[in-house]
Amino acid sequence: MKVLRRQKSGYALSILLCLLGIAFLFTMFWMCWPQLSSAKDPFSTFLTLIWTKNLNFVSGIEFKLSYLFILGDAMLIAGVSVYVLSVQRVYVPGKVVWYRCPFCQKDWKSSGTKALVHCPHCRQLIHPTIVEKIDRTTNATP
Ligand SMILES: [Zn+2]
Repeated sequence: MKVLRRQKSGYALSILLCLLGIAFLFTMFWMCWPQLSSAKDPFSTFLTLIWTKNLNFVSGIEFKLSYLFILGDAMLIAGVSVYVLSVQRVYVPGKVVWYRCPFCQKDWKSSGTKALVHCPHCRQLIHPTIVEKIDRTTNATP
């Protein structure tokens, strides 16, 4: 349950960061739009605007449009990273898998992926087959 909750907060954080990033980039485009729609070369005009245009929300404080661009990008990247990390944290470490011995056909449970193991049933050194099984001890609560 702890892992599940952590995973959910990770998703929530990543979605929040992505939304903020998109909102920042959208605001930036919105502010450039009047100049862009009348420009002959919108792309170079856009690049020039990003690095030269200043916004004055509060007088005396200079806020460049490029800050919005950098912040928006950074938040999108952070959002994606948090999403990837929250997925990895749940599925990669300590993943419990079922192995099947090719000699005695018996199954056993172990964590991680091993190429070569000793079968706990017949004691032979084998390349185990990984079996897909629902682990009822960890998935007991929905
Ligand atoms: Zn065996």
